[in-house]
Amino acid sequence: MNFKDILTEQRELFDSQKSKNLKFRKMYLEKLKEVILKNEDLLYEAIYKDFGKSRFDTYSTEISFVLKDIDYYLTNLNSLAKPKSAHTNLANQLGSSKVYAEPLGCTLVIGAWNYPYQLSLSPMVAALAAGNTCILKPSEIAAHSMHAMAQIINENFPKEYLYVVEGGVEEITEILKLKFDKIFFTGSPKVGQIVYEAAARHLTPVTLELGGKSPAIVTSSTNFEVAAKRIVWGKFLNAGQTCVAPDYILVDEKVKDSFLDSLKSYIQKFNYQPESEHYTRIINEKNFDRLVKLIDKEKVFFGGNSDSAQKFIEPTIMHNVTWDDAVMKEEIFGPILPVLTFKNFNEALLQIAAHEKPLSAYLFTDNSEEKEHFISKISFGGGCINDVVMHLSNDYLPFGGVGNSGIGNYHGKFGFEAFSHQKAILNRATWGEPDLKYPPYTDKKLTWIKKLL
Ligand code: NAD
Repeated sequence: MNFKDILTEQRELFDSQKSKNLKFRKMYLEKLKEVILKNEDLLYEAIYKDFGKSRFDTYSTEISFVLKDIDYYLTNLNSLAKPKSAHTNLANQLGSSKVYAEPLGCTLVIGAWNYPYQLSLSPMVAALAAGNTCILKPSEIAAHSMHAMAQIINENFPKEYLYVVEGGVEEITEILKLKFDKIFFTGSPKVGQIVYEAAARHLTPVTLELGGKSPAIVTSSTNFEVAAKRIVWGKFLNAGQTCVAPDYILVDEKVKDSFLDSLKSYIQKFNYQPESEHYTRIINEKNFDRLVKLIDKEKVFFGGNSDSAQKFIEPTIMHNVTWDDAVMKEEIFGPILPVLTFKNFNEALLQIAAHEKPLSAYLFTDNSEEKEHFISKISFGGGCINDVVMHLSNDYLPFGGVGNSGIGNYHGKFGFEAFSHQKAILNRATWGEPDLKYPPYTDKKLTWIKKLL
């Protein structure tokens, strides 16, 4: 496959102005919805083959996200694309000012494997809604899901508008040599850096949706039952292979024991067994081996068992963990939950602030001062108070990281903006202009200019 030829064809289509047309955008968004609904079973089967993800999880965390995005843009496209009036300052009277959302052009979306449909198709939908063409490169690690997306999209869409590339590092390295008008990447900070460097060669703008170690702080004033239930759900959803899953817990040492008991009771209640349909498998052997090595048997409070044949790792809680443990040296991205303690709330914030800025952070408390300090004193992409993960499901909030966890954001109108240039236009009348700015300059003109500017 010659990627350069596909991009050339996409550029021709973009230059023809077709993809900017709102009817054209809506027609293809409708078509995508139809194609996804028609092939729902194929998508379920593919992801199940990749890592045993249930239909329930696939619908609730992948397909419904993409369908919701399509519906959002179908409903809101006219208002999102409409030029926005801006105030016109005194110096530019008589005139009017507007901001136009201009499609950036030919875009490249690179997806991650852990939510293969959501993380590839949602940014792709935003790219198309904003009037661009798109080449999508999903992650080769979820190979069946990648193939399913390529099949349903490449069979139903003209490649000069939208094309899915199946491939891994070799293919994406070739693609990254080409000049795109926007690159949207989801994945690890390490690969994010490679993509950023490749984009810099063409001054291509990027959105980087990266990862990191997302903390959950549990204070003594919280409702343990609610905190434990929500953390267990968010941590073990997709077997911990979620970028915004709580990576580790910081709990007030006074309440550590009772909180650990609550965590354990919810893990038991939710019944994550090798035969449970609702418990996803580890994606591949490499990650399975990496995760098993992170489990320090001496520090296991609950769980710790695994079965390599089934790529099953039991939900595992580790206690008495410190920042020197291997499990605290990297993003876990699996069903292992280390629990650290703090003596006072400020110390918990300092522990977080001493490390890279996480993608998410969570706080469980009833104390309003703690809530305020959590928001104002530490930097992280986004998060929740008294919940985990769910901020991502609110399309009215921007989703993205900061520092090591990413650049830029998307979802809802923020996704549209990520793929648009804000073009500023001042439209002036050809009459009614004072002679002030034109030479020759005089002291009198300067006095007036000082007043005006
Ligand atoms: P990854 O960085 O290994 O791969 C992501 C994509 O980059 C894949 O499509 C892959 O083919 C491509 N890639 C791999 N090597 C490359 C190279 N040398 N040059 C160019 N492209 C390359 O990430 P992953 O394992 O798929 O996902 C796990 C990571 O992604 C975790 O850090 C996780 O936190 C993060 N993540 C972030 C979000 C988010 O929304 N912020 C969502 C999911 C995952």
